[in-house]
Amino acid sequence: MPSANLLARLAALLTFGYAAYYLLKCTVSPFGRCRRCSGTRRTGRKFARPCPRCDGTGLRQRLGRRLIVWARSEYRDGTR
Ligand SMILES: [Zn+2]
Repeated sequence: MPSANLLARLAALLTFGYAAYYLLKCTVSPFGRCRRCSGTRRTGRKFARPCPRCDGTGLRQRLGRRLIVWARSEYRDGTR
C-alpha cells in the first residue's frame, strides 16, 4: 500500500519537524513561565509567599533545555 507508506513517512517527518522546532525554541528561549505561579512569582491566596517551585523568579527551565544541557555535557565528557 503506497499511500499508507507515504502517510507514515509524512507523520514521521511532522514528528521530527516538531521536535526540531521545540529544541530550537528551547535554545532561543530556555526559560518558560512557571506553571505553579504562572509567572507571578508568588503562591498562596492569604499569604503571598515566594513561589517554592521557581524560587520566586517566576521562570522555569524548559525540559528541552535540560535535555540540551545534558546532551552537551555527555558529549563533552565523551570527547575529553
Ligand atoms: Zn513559580
